[in-house]
Order: sequence, then C-alpha cells, then structure tokens
Amino acid sequence: MSGPLSASKEVEEFMSGLRRRNPAEPEFQQAVQEVVETVMPYVLDNRQYYDNRILERMTEPDRVVMFRVSWEDDNGEVRANRAWRVQFNNSIGPYKGGMRFAGDLNLSVLKFLGFEQTFKNALTSLPMGGAKGGANFNPKGRSDREVMRFCHSLMIELHRHIGESTDVPAGDIGVGAREIGYMFGQYKRLENRFVGAMTGKGLEYGGSLIRKEATGYGTVYFVQNMLEHIGDSVAGKRFVISGSGNVATYAAEKILQLGGKPLTLSDSSGTIHDPAGITHEKLAYVKELKEVRRGRISEYAEEYPGATFMAGKKPWGVACDIALPCATQNELDLDGAKELVKNKCRVVAEGANMPTTLEAVHFLIENGVLFGPAKAVNAGGVAVSGLEQSQNSLRISWDAEEVETRLRNIMREIHNRCTKYGEEKGGAINYVKGANIAGFEKVAASMVNYGIV
Ligand code: NDP
Repeated sequence: MSGPLSASKEVEEFMSGLRRRNPAEPEFQQAVQEVVETVMPYVLDNRQYYDNRILERMTEPDRVVMFRVSWEDDNGEVRANRAWRVQFNNSIGPYKGGMRFAGDLNLSVLKFLGFEQTFKNALTSLPMGGAKGGANFNPKGRSDREVMRFCHSLMIELHRHIGESTDVPAGDIGVGAREIGYMFGQYKRLENRFVGAMTGKGLEYGGSLIRKEATGYGTVYFVQNMLEHIGDSVAGKRFVISGSGNVATYAAEKILQLGGKPLTLSDSSGTIHDPAGITHEKLAYVKELKEVRRGRISEYAEEYPGATFMAGKKPWGVACDIALPCATQNELDLDGAKELVKNKCRVVAEGANMPTTLEAVHFLIENGVLFGPAKAVNAGGVAVSGLEQSQNSLRISWDAEEVETRLRNIMREIHNRCTKYGEEKGGAINYVKGANIAGFEKVAASMVNYGIV
C-alpha cells in the first residue's frame, strides 16, 4: 500500500472527505491539501499513522470557541463583533498562536492558520501546541480608546480559555504591542495573577528582547541557510518584499545587516519600488510611518523621489534574486510566480502565512526555484514567543544577544530538519515536503502514544 499511485488516490479520497466535512472553508482546505500531498506517502510507509487515522484526527481542531464582543464606540454607538479561538492541537505542549484582527476574518482563515501553527510549532522543537484566534474587527481608523474598549471586552470572555499552561496567545495582523498591552492588562486584572499567559508583551512587563524582530530576522536566517546549502550567501542579493508591517520591515533590516539589497515594500494599496535600495535610514522612516503615524506606504515615494509607487500592484514584477512575501495569504499567485521565474528569481521564502497559492507553489518548484514554506521560514516569531514563555516561567530576562543566538540556532535546526526529510533523488531539497513531514512526525508520534483520544 505505498508508492506514488496509491498515495495520490489516498490524497484525493482524503481531500474529498475533508471538503465534504468543511464546505465553504477554502483557506483551510488549501492548507490541508498542501500538507496531505507531501505527507501521505510517508503515512503509507509508516502504517501506525495510517491505522490510527492520524491525518483525520489532526485535521479536526481539539475545539473552537466562538463568542460575541460587545463594545461602545466614541460616538456612543453600541457595536457587536465576533471573535474566535481555535485550539487546534496540544499534543506536544500548551496551545500557542497569534490573535488576528481583520474586518474580513472568518473561521476558515483561522482554521488554516491554527492547522499550520501546529506543524510550525513542532518544527521549532519547543513544547508548543497549535492554535489561532482573532476577531472580525478592523482596528484601522479606530481611536486608541476604541481599540482599548474592544480588547478589554474581548478578554472578558477569552480569559477563561487561556493560561500559561493551557493556551498562550500572541499578536498577528492587526494585533501589535498596543493590542497585546490592552488584552494582557485585562487578563491580569480578571485573573489577579501575573503569569506569561500572552507573548509579544512590552519589555516593561515581561516581553522578550528580539520578539518583535524575530519573524523577519528568522525569515532571513532561513534564507541564509538555504543559500549556504547551495554554496551561496545573502551578500549582494536583490530582494523583493511584500508588506510593510512587522515581518516585512525586520526582514529588510536583517537583509541589510547581511549585505543584501531590499528593493520593494508594499501595503494593501500598492507597492513602492526603490531601485537604489531601501537603506537603514529609509527603513526607519517606514517603521515610523506604519507603526507610529499609521500612514500609507505610498508616502515613501513622496519622501524619496527616486522611488516609484505602483498603485494596486504586487511587487513580483520587479527583477530580483530572492522574493519574500511578507504581507498576507494568497498574495503570490500563478501570474506572480511566472513573473518571478521569467526574471530568474532563485529563491522564494514565505515570511507571511500561506502567501503563495498552491498553483504558484507547484509552478515555482517545477521551475527549479528554491521554495521555503511559511511553517519553516517564519517559525522564528513563535520560537521567540516560546523563549518569552521560558523567561517568564524562570522570572528572568535574557539579553538581546542571547535571544538572537538562540533564534539563529533554532532556524538552523529547522533548516536541518527540512533537509533531512526533504532531500529528493539527486540531492535537491524539497522544503515543503521536508517541513511537512518533520512537523507531522513529532505530533503524530505523540498522538499514537496517547492512544485513541
Ligand atoms: P502587520 O499587521 O504588521 O503587517 C501586515 C502587512 O501586510 C501590512 O503592510 C498590510 O498593509 C499588509 N496587508 C494586510 N492585508 C493585506 C492584503 N489583503 N493585501 C495586501 N497587503 C496586505 O502583520 P505582520 O507583519 O505581523 O504579519 C504579516 C504576515 O506574517 C501574516 O501572514 C502573519 O500571519 C504572518 N506572521 C507574522 C508573525 C509575527 O510575528 N508578526 C509570525 C508568523 C507569521 P496595510 O497596512 O495596508 O494593512
């Protein structure tokens, strides 16, 4: 019962069952398909996973909590939003994963993110299960006090489902230091305990140095490992980056530190292209623009006239050696992948979660582009969140150098695991396969040990 033919039949049967059970959840179906395509041959070769129906059990969340968040806006109007916490799998440790605030958020997106998080957290080798949560609340254009009232109200329900040994939420899109502060403050007040029940906290109250840089830095460390594996380095390489948030800006910073050249950044309104390269000074401007002034990336082109703003455009048409999608899901589609291949891009690494469509992933790999999947590439963020939890439990804080050294080592270990399970005939590395099997193996082995639960 093994070999490519039976594996593809098993994938089709498995996916048709999953689609039937989870209709109208395209993002979740896509994330599962990407994993099952590469893991099924391994499952067929390791019958204990097949016989124990591990894939069926792993694709059902342990539980989903959905609740109402009522709050009052600055005009005295009463508002009602919907929030979720998807606790996907705690086989290898307490649930861990970010909270996302976005107007169009839905359960399909959160299930895809929670599923991915389970594998990612396993890859870090830290004891963390997988979860994700958030609300269909858009903080853009809301005053500080409105955001505060929303976060406080949300935590009145969420606090009973989380805790330092149960479930430890963090930030994600729309949830930065400000939102974490409001949520953690309310948690502490409701529980009357100061414990590390959230990560991404401010440095003054239990946060870790390097946490805010971790995902972007880790992304570039992973790319550095990919390049070193083929005898190359970051120095001198041209990068296109999408997004201008936390992941994108710190990825650009690490690229500069390693001698590479970032050419683009973007937001939901378009892309800026700076042929002279985005320098440390220009990056400081972007951070101030996005984090403090909460402005639009188009303002970069007004500040630096050598740069152009391409309204409504993604950055994939700009010639580069390496592309880092760092904004949101499904932002790099087949057309974008074709442009990258045409321009001889050699590496694509996902800083964001599932930014590349399945068709685009297949096209890039078939055309010899080294493709680093999110669950390996951007695992540095949750890894340093795990280190924040350790520091909170120990009631100590490590200096920046200590945390960054640990981050660099974790990223190297993740890369090693990808090469162990992802090597194809001829020696090329299929990172999608490597990351999926390495993450699956750890969670699956634990589930088998627990019996039928
Ligand atoms: P931020 O909120 O800091 O930044 C998100 C960026 O993406 C902004 O530039 C935003 O532009 C842009 N963006 C959002 N939605 C869209 C869209 N529909 N189309 C185009 N651009 C869009 O988020 P992060 O940087 O933290 O997260 C980015 C990605 O990385 C997400 O997929 C997240 O899940 C993933 N990630 C983040 C981690 C972290 O530690 N922060 C850890 C692991 C993964 P605008 O300002 O216009 O909204």
